[in-house]
Amino acid sequence: MARFSTRAILAATRSPEVNQIPSAIPIYQAAAFSTADAAELGEVLTGARPGYAYSRIDNPTTAALGSAVAELEGAEAGLAFATGMAAIHAALVSVVRAGQTIVATQAVYGTTRDLLTRVLAGFGVTTEFVDPTDLAAVDAALGRTGAPVLYVETVSNPTIIVSDIAALAEIAHRHGALLLVDNTFASPFACRPIERGADLVMHSATKYISGHADVLAGIVVGSRERVDACRPILVDVGGALAPIAAFLVLRGIPTLALRMQRHSETALELAAWLEGQGVVERVHYPGLPGSPYHAVAARELDVFGGMLAFELSGGRAAGQAFLDAMQIAERTASLGAFRTITTHPASTTHRQLDADALKASGIAPGLLRCSVGLEDVEDLRVDFDLGLAAAQAAQ
Ligand SMILES: *Cc1c(COP(=O)(O)O)cnc(C)c1O
Repeated sequence: MARFSTRAILAATRSPEVNQIPSAIPIYQAAAFSTADAAELGEVLTGARPGYAYSRIDNPTTAALGSAVAELEGAEAGLAFATGMAAIHAALVSVVRAGQTIVATQAVYGTTRDLLTRVLAGFGVTTEFVDPTDLAAVDAALGRTGAPVLYVETVSNPTIIVSDIAALAEIAHRHGALLLVDNTFASPFACRPIERGADLVMHSATKYISGHADVLAGIVVGSRERVDACRPILVDVGGALAPIAAFLVLRGIPTLALRMQRHSETALELAAWLEGQGVVERVHYPGLPGSPYHAVAARELDVFGGMLAFELSGGRAAGQAFLDAMQIAERTASLGAFRTITTHPASTTHRQLDADALKASGIAPGLLRCSVGLEDVEDLRVDFDLGLAAAQAAQ
């Protein structure tokens, strides 16, 4: 009989045989998977037979998440990554080469802008930023640069801009370019860009898809061929998602529809209420009939979503006072969680920008951005009232 250490190792690694279907996808928290013989391992590693060998390459829990989001997005295939940025990086690098240009929305997520201008620029990839709502400018930029990629976000900061995915896909394809869409703010419940002509869709699943602010994850979905082109980047760069993180994201998905409906209902109610408040100069929410994006959003989105922004008349001081007065909403820069999150870009995420640079980014000094959570709307209104009173006093 083997000695104690050997017995401990064998005893603790004997996989249970399970012939029934578990009600949740198990966390396959294993670095590697062993095979019956050397030939099988070789075949699995080279893709000659399906299976698992090493969790950076593939893992059952992580693969289940990629497939689940692909199904929700109406895509052929999906791949999960450690973070949204790892997913966006892989998608971009799978389609662009040194010497080429990316045409990207100027209203792009801050870290994606840094990826384009700090990281990819160092490898000879340039980016031309355009206003995604100016279709003639997008058309001209693609024609001028011969870019292989048009990169946009379904819904984006700072003023909750909504892109016309169908029109952008038509323009991109006419120029022989692919349309890549960051669908994080909309979630697959509100919008499925693949159905509207996009080629690759990325998510920060850290946000709405997981919904509970307790995990980082990213997803790329698209045709099998395009997703397969992202796989070597995942494997060689190493941005693999941990199985336990994949489990946490999967846990959020069954309630995505309920959450998005509630986020949207509450956001619309708050947006309409904020419009009638004295110190509020403008409310940015695509569900408001007066929004410049209302018509596009009504076509592109099934619900208007949980992101809203509004401008206070008292500028930077009012914005800061509003934020500091809130009791329920969290003061942080993330979004898409069950709890309401409010940010004042001018004093936080964009504090390094002076007045002119803020203006160029479309950020008023008194702009607040809110990821509306799942709390009771009456309580949120009380919390916003505290903010408004503090903003008024700070003027
Ligand atoms: C958060 C976010 C990202 C980055 O995702 P991480 O999971 O933080 O890496 C990308 N795009 C958008 C729109 C985001 O909100």
